[in-house]
Amino acid sequence: MEKTKIILLGDNIVSNILKILLHKQKIDYVNLCLPKKNLETRFYAVKPTFYQWFEDNFKLPFSKFYPIKNIDIYFKQEKITLANEHSRPFSLFNMTKSDDIFQTIKHFNLDTAIEVNDIKVKTDINYISLIDQSIQGDLIINTDHRLNESLGVTEKVDNTQEFAIVAFFSSKTSLENKAHQYFYHNQILAILPFDDNKFSIVLSAKNDVIENLLSQSDQNFEKNIQKICGLSSISLLTERQSYPIFQSKVKKNNLSRIILMGDASHRVHPLAGQGLNLGFGDIADFNSLINQSSYHDYGKANFIKKYNIKRAADEMFIHYLTSTIDAMMIKQGDFFQPLMKLPAKVINNSNLIKKLLAEVMI
Ligand SMILES: Cc1cc2nc3c(=O)[nH]c(=O)nc-3n(C[C@H](O)[C@H](O)[C@H](O)COP(=O)(O)OP(=O)(O)OC[C@H]3O[C@@H](n4cnc5c(N)ncnc54)[C@H](O)[C@@H]3O)c2cc1C
Repeated sequence: MEKTKIILLGDNIVSNILKILLHKQKIDYVNLCLPKKNLETRFYAVKPTFYQWFEDNFKLPFSKFYPIKNIDIYFKQEKITLANEHSRPFSLFNMTKSDDIFQTIKHFNLDTAIEVNDIKVKTDINYISLIDQSIQGDLIINTDHRLNESLGVTEKVDNTQEFAIVAFFSSKTSLENKAHQYFYHNQILAILPFDDNKFSIVLSAKNDVIENLLSQSDQNFEKNIQKICGLSSISLLTERQSYPIFQSKVKKNNLSRIILMGDASHRVHPLAGQGLNLGFGDIADFNSLINQSSYHDYGKANFIKKYNIKRAADEMFIHYLTSTIDAMMIKQGDFFQPLMKLPAKVINNSNLIKKLLAEVMI
């Protein structure tokens, strides 16, 4: 039986960055994953603090990016003015292409993940093993939610019955490092520039609304987006991709010698672009725990407990905010619906909703 400290499961952005960290920390690991998915180019809004963290730790820039310095938020085409306390002099987030992240990852020249069809685990007081692969480790770190069931993880998955459309556009008007977020008739649309004249959209809505938008011709779809955002002369550059939206909560206190990171640990609504950022927070917090403590066995219940406690606040905060805004805007919860009928002027004066929006967007 091959022995190692960490069995890392998954082949995605989070697992690959974690691999770079384990290599730097000189921690033995093996990396396995399910058969690879089709890779699509995506853009992510990544927090500048993660860029700083990556550069501080690995002495290399994380990835090329387009900085977003402002965000305008609209309710039914009326602009919500965020109070001064919410605006900041530096970039709010960086629009980053997945291909560019993987360029950086390649630079480290680490072994690629070994593909397996399934995993079966056995836990002992002193180790955890993957039976079919004859691998034994102190700890499993899973980053792929599809493996949660095989690991015996109890996960409460909320299928929101919503989808998000992602597509790239060009614009004749300069976008000037500004993002826009529209809350418009049960749809949430984010306009996320990744160049002065190009942007990505994330449009979330209920299944039937999305089906209708996907069946439209490119021209009609462009008109729809134009109607919401008011940008003139925009053209669709790519096919529309759609993703089902799931939110998940995972029970962690019963897991022995297992840590979950990335989407295996938390799937959140994409309305605020926080999913991958939470995964980056998982890696950074894991690193600081390793640096602060002198554990030789990272599978010890105490270490795992400390890690889970460290991550719980971030996770709960983002989950609460995104699901609350989703309930208010798309699901039409009875409690919040009357609030949505108020004119934007009233919302402008309502500290609660403005604070919620600003906290989650910025
Ligand atoms: C519509 C939508 C928009 C989102 N926008 C944001 C956002 O702006 N900011 C944010 O923080 N979170 C965002 N999220 C959440 C985010 O997608 C997930 O949390 C994140 O993808 C999970 O990370 P992962 O490591 O599991 O990566 P994965 O989802 O597995 O992969 C992410 C990207 O990397 C590529 N990729 C994966 N593995 C490889 C590989 N081995 N080689 C090359 N390429 C590879 C994939 O093709 C994909 O483009 C969004 C989610 C959705 C559904």
